[in-house]
Amino acid sequence: MAVPKLEMRPLGNTGLKLSSVGFGASPLGSVFGSVSESDPVASVLEAFHLGINFFDTSPYYGATLSEKMLGKGLKALGVPRSEYIVSTKCGRYREGFDFSAERVTKSIDESLERLQLDYVDIFQCHDIEFGSLDQVVNETIPALQKLKESGKIRFIGITGLPLEIFTYVLDRVPPGTVDVILSYCHYSINDSTLEDLLPYLKTKGVGVISASPLAMGLLTEFGPPEWHPASPELKSACQAAAVYCKEKGKNISKLAMQYSLSNKDISTVLVGMNSVKQVEENVAAATELALFGKDHETLAEVEAILKPVKNQTWPSGIQRS
Ligand code: NAD
Repeated sequence: MAVPKLEMRPLGNTGLKLSSVGFGASPLGSVFGSVSESDPVASVLEAFHLGINFFDTSPYYGATLSEKMLGKGLKALGVPRSEYIVSTKCGRYREGFDFSAERVTKSIDESLERLQLDYVDIFQCHDIEFGSLDQVVNETIPALQKLKESGKIRFIGITGLPLEIFTYVLDRVPPGTVDVILSYCHYSINDSTLEDLLPYLKTKGVGVISASPLAMGLLTEFGPPEWHPASPELKSACQAAAVYCKEKGKNISKLAMQYSLSNKDISTVLVGMNSVKQVEENVAAATELALFGKDHETLAEVEAILKPVKNQTWPSGIQRS
């Protein structure tokens, strides 16, 4: 049987087509445990070889290490720049948050140097719930529009955890100004609240990147990193689900990838990867889904285990009343 190619999906009104599985490069900054010098390059090469064309990073990940590692990997590809899509971010740094026009304008030049690129396809304001949303609307996004005109970036995005930040900003900027949103941990087996926002985003023509399908490690056999903000209750329910799958000869991460990939209104499922093995497993999850469909039985069993914590999240950013 021929192995289906990784599906390409449109990203809102941008005209870009992203692979359904996107490469999240935060683990390349050793965010989930230390990574060797060779793994990042090998992972990026394997990802591209298997049909992944979208790579996401930020100066915040590993205090710029992720951008540098991704830059190395992309250079090693040796293919024309138009064959891959790169997203990085601004406003969040090891030193803290700064969404001022001056800082984000400087930020793109620093990122381009680390990535060894002339432009990025998507430039996103990183975790805007930690800043003033009005500043993002009135100062940051206009500064990013100037960067668009200069050719250093092609499209503008915003990212963060609480879903209401997206409507706040999108309701206040001229149509077509914000091209993309990146939401994380809201379209996984344990939390699918992004679903309610999808019709609104569609009417706005905004592309949807859904990140962290493995809930930042909760839906893995290995478990989450030390810093994971979930409650002990959520952590133990996810661990129970992972153990259940393992005992049944199934893999919780594959199940989680397939759950997220099943919604075609999501342009790309951005999963963090730091090894060739993980790249191969996540692409295989997508190709097996295309060939055989979802594992409905195991999914229903895991959903039952996670029911008491369904849609449970955690606070992020400045708390607004
Ligand atoms: P994730 O849910 O993708 O989980 C990543 C973890 O799972 C890592 O430890 C990784 O090594 C592991 N993993 C990956 N594939 C696996 C597999 N097949 N089996 C077992 N373990 C596997 O979480 P994430 O990395 O935080 O999110 C994905 C990407 O999305 C990030 O790298 C980043 O690019 C982006 N992101 C952005 C924001 C933001 O802008 N605010 C927030 C979160 C994530």
